[in-house]
Formats: sequence, structure tokens, C-alpha cells
Amino acid sequence: MIVVMKRDATQDQIKHMVDRVEQLGLKSHVIVGTERTVIAAIGEKRENAKESLSSGSGVDDVVPILAPYKVASREVKPEPTQVNVGSLRVGAGHVGIIAGPCSVENEEQILGTAGAVKAAGATALRGGAFKPRTSPYSFQGLKEDGLKLLAAARDATGLAIVTEVMGTDDVDLVAEYADVLQIGARNMQNYRLLEAVGNSHRPVLLKRGPSATIDELLLAAEYILNEGNPNVMLCERGVRTFETHTRFTLPLATVAYLHNKTHLPVVIDPSHGTGHAYLVPSMAAAAVAAGADGLIIEVHPDPECALSDGYQSLDFAQFSKTVEQCRKVAESVDKKI
Ligand code: PEP
Ligand code: MN
Repeated sequence: MIVVMKRDATQDQIKHMVDRVEQLGLKSHVIVGTERTVIAAIGEKRENAKESLSSGSGVDDVVPILAPYKVASREVKPEPTQVNVGSLRVGAGHVGIIAGPCSVENEEQILGTAGAVKAAGATALRGGAFKPRTSPYSFQGLKEDGLKLLAAARDATGLAIVTEVMGTDDVDLVAEYADVLQIGARNMQNYRLLEAVGNSHRPVLLKRGPSATIDELLLAAEYILNEGNPNVMLCERGVRTFETHTRFTLPLATVAYLHNKTHLPVVIDPSHGTGHAYLVPSMAAAAVAAGADGLIIEVHPDPECALSDGYQSLDFAQFSKTVEQCRKVAESVDKKI
């Protein structure tokens, strides 16, 4: 249920209703909107709870949340959420550009890429230090040494760092170095990991599992939000279909659909979504046209020699042109890069 407070409700009245919600055995989430404050009351439905809460002072209405996800729902918070962390701003009119290599490989590679993507207009640096690879024989990432190199790249450029955390045991370590914790597609339904990043106080980039429905993605986000971490970005990175021309199939309708259902910002990954560098620039521009709040793009100084995902990585010149193009598209849909 949502307890919708009156526009002029006092802090005492809000606090009182939070206590009432909790006395009913429900979890409360206070969402302060520009117009009014609402309290999401989450948990098993209790008899007479609606009637009991409706009579509270300062309460305007008590309405059920129809969607299976609650805190992520647009019913609870009509205005869009903006995630703001260091140089990165995603949502509510701002298109964040997260760029960098699939994997951190060495100092020269990550520092060189950080400088180049920043100069081209990126607002955050990506790079995997813990890599989820299909084969155990592929490069697994530099782990903590990679995190240290990412931190050095942030010191050199001021770019916020986005990097993946693969397991609950690594959350504290990765959170020490990163500005945004990335949950990879393979881990979208690792619920203990979602709870752990929910408790980390770092913004989270949650990637859609290649076979997950959008409701499953939103319920995964709900695990993070439910721990009290409001800074979740949803990332469409393509789904598995019968099509083999692209690595995955990238559904851009996800952007408009999610904007209708949730206040959380939506980031598109055209690199994993297509699996081919030559398809990335047009899908990046199309994503911005569809209203995406951010892009995450793989960029490498020498894609041919990359230790992972080189075939879908842009070189510096290609990335720079892509940002230029996306900037024009963003302006045409009243957004800023
Ligand atoms: C990545 O971003 O490098 C990555 C592994 O992506 P995904 O989890 O979407 O496969
Ligand atoms: Mn990759």
C-alpha cells in the first residue's frame, strides 16, 4: 500500500505514520517527492490495515500498489530518479556516458582510455577488475590490482568509476574503490548479492539477465531498494533469442516500457547488446532517441588486442564520433549529455 500524505503534512505526522505502518508489521519506505511525501508500506496484506492507516492525521489517501514490485514502481514515485555520483549524472534529463574497456588490463591501457574517453565526453569510466567469463580458461581480471588502477584513473581524470562485483565476499572491497557497483547479467538473480549491494551505500548499475523478463529485472531492483539503497540504474544489455547475427538481441522498447513502469533511470549497453563494434554507434544514438538516461559503451585503445570483448569495442576515434552524434540526438529529445 502507499500512504499518500497531504501536501502540508508535517514531519511529525509523517513520522507518526511511519510508526503506525511498522506497528502493523509492515516495512516502511519514505519517498519525499517534489509535490508530497508518500510512505510505501510493504509486506503481507493485513486485515483492516488500509482503514486503520486512512484515519491518521495528515493522510490524504491509502492506495494499493498494483505492480508486483513496490519501491521501484512509478505508482509510488511519479517523478524520475536521478543518480548523481561524482562526475556521473543519470536520469531526469541527463544522459550519462559510461565508457571504457571490458577489462582493466594494465596501467597504460586504463589511464590512456580514461583520458581519451573523458576528452570525448564520457562522464564515467567503466572497466572490469572481476570478470565473469563463460570459460574458466579466459582472462578473469586483475582483481584488486585492477581496482587500484581504476582508482588511479579516477585520480587522474576525475571520472567516476563503474566496475562489477561478482560475489558477496567482494562487495566491501569493490565498494572501497568504485563509485558505482555493477551487477552483471549473470548475477541479476543472485539475491544475496543484491541485498549486499543494497547495504553498500554505493549506487548500483543492475544489468538485465539475458533470459530475464522485465518484471524479474524490476523485482531484482526491488531487492536492492528494499535494503534502503535508492540509487539503482537499470541496464538493458540485450536478451537471448533465436537470432545469431548479433551476440544478443537489444530491445530498445525496454526504455519506454520501463519509463512507464518505474522511476528508476534506464541505461543501454549497445556493446554487449549487439556484439559488433560497427553496430554500436547507431544503437547508441537510437537508445538516446528512445529516451535512455545513460549509455555504457566498451572502448579500447587497440580493440584487436583486447583481452576480452575486443570485437564489440570502439576505438577512441569511433567513440568520439559516437558521443558527438548522441549529443545531437539528446538535444533533439530535450536531454543533456
Ligand atoms: C560487462 O559489462 O563487461 C559484462 C560482463 O556485461 P554483462 O554482465 O552484461 O554480460
Ligand atoms: Mn564486456
